[in-house]
Amino acid sequence: MNNISRRDSEVIWHPYTQMQLSPLATGIVKGEGVYLIDEAGNRYIDAISSWWVNLHGHSHPYIAQRLSEQLTTLEHCIFAGFTHEPAVQLAERLLPLLPGNMARIFYSDNGSTAVEVALKMALQYQSNQDTGRRRIIALEGAYHGDTFGAMSVSGRSLFTRPFETLLFDTAYIPFPHPGQEEETLHALETLLQQEDAAALILEPLVQGASGMRMYTSGVLEQMMRCCREYGCLVIADEVMTGFGRTGTWFACDQVQDARPDIICLSKGLTGGTVPLGVTACTQRIYDAFLSEDHHKTLYHGHSFTANPIACTAGIASLDLLLAPACRLQIDALVSAHSAAKTHWQNGKGLKAVRQCGTILALELETGTATGYLNRHRDHIYHFFLERKILLRPLGNIIYILPPYCITTGQLGFVYEEIDQLLSTL
Ligand SMILES: *Cc1c(COP(=O)(O)O)cnc(C)c1O
Repeated sequence: MNNISRRDSEVIWHPYTQMQLSPLATGIVKGEGVYLIDEAGNRYIDAISSWWVNLHGHSHPYIAQRLSEQLTTLEHCIFAGFTHEPAVQLAERLLPLLPGNMARIFYSDNGSTAVEVALKMALQYQSNQDTGRRRIIALEGAYHGDTFGAMSVSGRSLFTRPFETLLFDTAYIPFPHPGQEEETLHALETLLQQEDAAALILEPLVQGASGMRMYTSGVLEQMMRCCREYGCLVIADEVMTGFGRTGTWFACDQVQDARPDIICLSKGLTGGTVPLGVTACTQRIYDAFLSEDHHKTLYHGHSFTANPIACTAGIASLDLLLAPACRLQIDALVSAHSAAKTHWQNGKGLKAVRQCGTILALELETGTATGYLNRHRDHIYHFFLERKILLRPLGNIIYILPPYCITTGQLGFVYEEIDQLLSTL
């Protein structure tokens, strides 16, 4: 018992973890549907989809079977000068599903690299055409990943502090809190009038890491339209919001006339099985790189670009996602959340309750302590772990973002335990 946990503590450095203060990591030996099963046989409901990646449940037999066939057919090959069926098929199936008029797929390894590629595409698009536009605009509180470019366009925070002097300058506009949209739009337009903006990058509808902060599709549409008017590109970072999380296939689908120029995808892209990143762009972006001049090439690539196993996982996940059964699961989840939201609205100890599709977030009253290091956070995390539920609050924000296969019974159990927690505060 606890064998993996103990061996781990000798050799592993965990992500986003103060190793001196953290208890032993829970050793997981098996995943099964919505459950993660530990060494002692405890079954935890994975109510945050293991950092927002899992869509159809753990160790899904259909995805497993497709991956195993692919492993014995072609496990990997170089993607410059060579290509293969899984990469082409996933691109063919993804492009028509994406919002706007996406024409090309560039593969990479994860959400951060998908963002790096998007930034490079946008900046080199501008330099290939000598527009002189070099500035990136982002929303305050944004999170776009942990590599240097992605950190540079993310909000400055606890996460970025040690590197701050090395990050490139980004112009930030205020978060469009409901009721304060005008301020955001005004700040955006003022920046755009300077005509030096290469691109606006944003997490459409929901800022994940900053606490599941939500804004309306109306202001999203206005921001995008404003950018188009002033010749500034729009990068939609749908790494978290993609593949049904917001109730529609993509968050940008909730905007009538959404036309991002570049879209970043990862997390749910493979159903959460193996890492893969996608940066999709329009024909106009792609065309700006076509030239007899080698300087206009996008010199970017990773060793495992378009890994066939990862692409196959993407195809298998799409098969499941587009089956009518999954649509029913998503709709059931959205309506269960909606009822829970009504139940908690104006609840004691709650500052706000927010929902966007399959994402439900509860913001606890905290007095003065807010943010990622909020004192409630560890207490809440362990409260739920003891009850065999994996919920990982972002500071004082508890959110539920489960795999779509979660049953109403399992979801009801999660809601009840949250009620229990609220009654102890
Ligand atoms: C998680 C996330 C990323 C980074 O993805 P990784 O795969 O963790 O590198 C980028 N953007 C958004 C919106 C995210 O939620």
